[in-house]
Amino acid sequence: MQPSVACANCGAPMEGEYCGSCGQRRFRPEDRRLAALLRDGFDALTDLDGRLWRSLRALMLQPGRIARDWSDGRRAYWISPIRLFLLANLLYFLAPVVSDLDLPLHNQVRGEAYRQLVPEWCAEPGNAPVCAWPGQFHSRLTEPAFLHALAIERSAAAARGERFDGAGFEQRYNAQSAAIGKLLVIVHVPFVALMLWLATRLKPPRRYYAEHFVVALGLVSFILVLMPLVKPLLWLAMLAHRGLGLPGGYIGALFGYASLAVVLVHFALACRRCYGGGPARAATLGLLAFLALGLASLFVYRPLQFLLALWTM
Ligand SMILES: [Zn+2]
Repeated sequence: MQPSVACANCGAPMEGEYCGSCGQRRFRPEDRRLAALLRDGFDALTDLDGRLWRSLRALMLQPGRIARDWSDGRRAYWISPIRLFLLANLLYFLAPVVSDLDLPLHNQVRGEAYRQLVPEWCAEPGNAPVCAWPGQFHSRLTEPAFLHALAIERSAAAARGERFDGAGFEQRYNAQSAAIGKLLVIVHVPFVALMLWLATRLKPPRRYYAEHFVVALGLVSFILVLMPLVKPLLWLAMLAHRGLGLPGGYIGALFGYASLAVVLVHFALACRRCYGGGPARAATLGLLAFLALGLASLFVYRPLQFLLALWTM
């Protein structure tokens, strides 16, 4: 039996190895040494059974598990769903090859407006399709902001006695949009949660919006981690395909459908675990969640990404 001492962290009397009041481990003189610090860092990185790795694994392999446990009160076993989302977002942010959620400028504005930016480029016959693009749902609505930014750049260039550099403007926009887009992914989550709340409202047990939000966080986190994993596979397949002298478009489409199938199955399994019911109900809820994700992307994420990139570039 160790002697009773006061906890070094909170001052509560302490009997065993850990403080019953705050949970800190008994503090010893050698804990002040560098070795203790290094051991701590080493543990954090290599502890493969630790909560972080366990949570990441469950996120990818056990659809809805963390959200279900969160609702049932089994929480200490996992890192918190919001932290897991931030981690997934960080992984996605740092992944160099992934830009699936990012749209370049020529995709965000109508061809008509794009032509004002790079008229010479659009005059070449091969580029006609890009410069005839009807735009996104928001493009007409957000066009004044784009034309305004363009006018400011033009007059600034004129004031410096320079020629306006449309291609340079586009390059700066695209770089900014890629960064902003990766940070903005979270705007999808409240809409997916809203859809799940609406779709499950009539069937007991009743849940808090926050519980649907946690389910939605898991679904979006899954996609964020999946994309950087799938992308290198796609590239390898493309390379192998080219080696055989076949066109790559077919493989790209196949990968697209396969990823979509993986996402939809994951969504359905997650809904089954979190909301119960039969496979038909789970598949419907999964589809509705995916639909909400798409609608949020079209009507909220894309215009926000466009305007924020435009205003901060
Ligand atoms: Zn304590």
